[in-house]
Amino acid sequence: MSPPTLRTASALIAAGLAPAAARETLDAVAERYATAIPPALAALIDHPDDPIGRQFVPHPDELHTAAHERLDPIGDDAFSPVPGIVHRYADRALLKPLLVCPVYCRFCFRREHVGPEGGLLDDTQLDRALAWLAANPQIGEVILTGGDPLALSPRRLARILAALDAMAHVHTIRIHTRVPVATPERIDTALLDALETETPLWVVLHANHARELTPAARTALRALSRRGIPLLGQSVLLRGVNDSPEALEDLLRALLAARVKPYYLHQLDAAPGTQRFHVPIAEGRRLLADLRGRVTGLAWPTYVLDIPGGAGKVPIGPDYLDGNRVRDPAGMWHEVADPAPAG
Ligand code: SF4
Repeated sequence: MSPPTLRTASALIAAGLAPAAARETLDAVAERYATAIPPALAALIDHPDDPIGRQFVPHPDELHTAAHERLDPIGDDAFSPVPGIVHRYADRALLKPLLVCPVYCRFCFRREHVGPEGGLLDDTQLDRALAWLAANPQIGEVILTGGDPLALSPRRLARILAALDAMAHVHTIRIHTRVPVATPERIDTALLDALETETPLWVVLHANHARELTPAARTALRALSRRGIPLLGQSVLLRGVNDSPEALEDLLRALLAARVKPYYLHQLDAAPGTQRFHVPIAEGRRLLADLRGRVTGLAWPTYVLDIPGGAGKVPIGPDYLDGNRVRDPAGMWHEVADPAPAG
């Protein structure tokens, strides 16, 4: 039998991931934010402040909200026409069928909402959310997120995907998940069968450090890939986790080796109590510039910022073009002839 998921201060102390003296503070953190560290990730933590421990072990600093931090940093609530739907861009919508995750990240941008108490949309709410999608033919892409959609039962997931499959205007389905690294054992035949869709389906893996791509995670990702599901990666730039050129390079290479194409590197969203993870944008741009030329373009993610308040996601560099000069990977500038069209 595998060890249990760590969910309380007592369990963390017993596992050697927190000192007994921290119990009271960690209880206070746990009252505000959910904790869950499944065995696959707990096994990777050597110290609460190592790159895996930092992501998942609660910390007293979470009780301090910095001046720039917001309860709903990217403005989900303002763009929600019915429970479970976020409609920010004309042709896309988020469907959040549940707010439960297999692991709770200490820097989560939805940390005020996710947790075991967050539950899932009940049948009536789910039907209303699906009806909203069916009634909005401009929605071509539906992004299942949450919470973690792969934490749903295969039956419920299949029901949702069948409903989306039946909408002729939906041409792309995306699932954002941590499951292949957090609870890889969930990627079994029943779940893989549930992911069989007529509509093209993409799975976007959230992973932030190379060590998350364990043999078990790679097996789970390979199983998804064998079903013809393209795999993309999204990561968050995090202080003490991946804020060095070496750590980023290792992560991007590990994702590719696991058949996952790096898609986004997110600037941290300013959720409450996450200041210790913040890496300034200028530093993030330097880190990426340092990697240009060192890793294959296939491994290259777009560095993006979700504009606080919900104005959308934008690339934030680094830039290589300045007027008619272009910068090479070594940092040297070159003039480029770029004549205007004749006539
Ligand atoms: S898996 Fe995603 S939604 Fe869940 S806690 Fe982590 S960042 Fe938040």
